[in-house]
Amino acid sequence: MTEKLKRTARHISLGESLIFERSVPGKRGFELPPLDVPAVDSAAVVGAEFARSRVEGFPEVSEIEVIRHFTRLSTWNYAIDYGMYPLGSCTMKYNPRVNEFVARLDGIASEHPYQPVELAQGCLKILWALQQILLEVTGMDAVTLHPCAGAQGEYAGILMIRALLTSRGNPRKKVLVPDSAHGTNPATAVTAEYAVENIPSDANGRIDLARLSSVVNEDVAALMVTNPNTVGIFEKDIAAVAELLHSRGALLYMDGANMNALAGVARPGDFGVDVMHMNLHKTFSTPHGGGGPGAGPVAVKKSLEPFLPSPVLVQRADGKLNFDNNRPQSIGRLRAFYGNFGVLVRALAYALAYGPGMRAATEDAVLNANYIRKNLEDTFELPYRQPCMHEVVFSDARQRKNGVTTMDIAKRLIDYGFHPYTTAFPLIVPGAMMIEPTESESRAECDEFIQAMRSIAEESATTPERVKTAPHSTRIGRLDETTAARKPILRWKPQ
Ligand SMILES: *Cc1c(COP(=O)(O)O)cnc(C)c1O
Repeated sequence: MTEKLKRTARHISLGESLIFERSVPGKRGFELPPLDVPAVDSAAVVGAEFARSRVEGFPEVSEIEVIRHFTRLSTWNYAIDYGMYPLGSCTMKYNPRVNEFVARLDGIASEHPYQPVELAQGCLKILWALQQILLEVTGMDAVTLHPCAGAQGEYAGILMIRALLTSRGNPRKKVLVPDSAHGTNPATAVTAEYAVENIPSDANGRIDLARLSSVVNEDVAALMVTNPNTVGIFEKDIAAVAELLHSRGALLYMDGANMNALAGVARPGDFGVDVMHMNLHKTFSTPHGGGGPGAGPVAVKKSLEPFLPSPVLVQRADGKLNFDNNRPQSIGRLRAFYGNFGVLVRALAYALAYGPGMRAATEDAVLNANYIRKNLEDTFELPYRQPCMHEVVFSDARQRKNGVTTMDIAKRLIDYGFHPYTTAFPLIVPGAMMIEPTESESRAECDEFIQAMRSIAEESATTPERVKTAPHSTRIGRLDETTAARKPILRWKPQ
């Protein structure tokens, strides 16, 4: 490209300015039709202190400028529809288009939550059907669809545990959390007013049963455990863990964010779990990330059913569905209405499309992760040398000798056309590199990824600077993330 062309192409690719900087006074992208109702004085309606005569710094641009600006920006994003997204813990699987088709259907997308239940039986049937499927997959007795994220599901679950124990005479004081746990677990326990006690993992990355036994006493309300855990390893003593807790009056909470490794193969209800949440936006495929809507249903055993958030969906004798608000022992309402309906619809569409094939999806997710593990274990340090479930955790220990960290390798992956894996989590693995290919990827795609990782490992030995300064192929290179976090500029100010 000549210098001149490069300069003229800047506005298309490299130097996309802010929409505010494109503003030209008087330009319009939209015009309202003439007023056909009597004008009102807005200051009189909302109060003078809230009425604005103009909007400060509002960009004035034409329609095509808006369209091009945001279309260009959208091409800067990485997406699962663009390539492999091996972000461990997040389960960035492909979201089949049929989910979107169903969620947009008339009579689903257009329904209103205030609609009387007699006129909303179709929507309620969707919720009911999804509940039945989740109970089948988890082996639990009852489920609520209200929580709109995994974290909110955790909170509801621990509140139910507190309510049950309180009804038995003593809510107890502590929640045990393994040191490999996702940060939301201890946060949830503290928010539900429990003290958190950390349980160290053993040399295989699992809960140490003997150690656990020494700390479970009458102060312990529950153990919160992720299974498979965040190092991608199945807690094979889980049934014994449940038995131990139950024998001392405590409960077992399972963080089910990793159900992508179990769905259709093993049921938490069968191995002693009392309460669990699922992340439908992970396991049951809904677009997620960037703070988009999610759904974190909570499934419970019979003993916890009276404490479910209200209202509870019930089937009347005549087969019609209704909401039961008369739940004296309920932990109460979690949110407006009945959950993130659009996400729940997508989850049902996904589950029905797969049917019993959900088991094959799970097996493929585990196979893909182990394929990557086997093909990279001679190149990267593998702290727990054993078969993994749906994700595999390496560390940067070998590359660090040349000054290259997990973050550098992740950034360099961008140049190879892949989204980075998860860096620096779980905390029990220093320099963690957490890779979750999901079942969506073909063997060919996994091979490409393995090639890229091998190539970056080689670069780390021969030209470490190249890795440490990556990415080189993006419009913006390495950002100063500390300053971005500490001194964020969130508001554009007119110059
Ligand atoms: C994603 C995740 C959560 C939290 O779920 P959100 O829907 O993001 O609130 C909790 N635990 C684990 C193990 C997770 O991967």
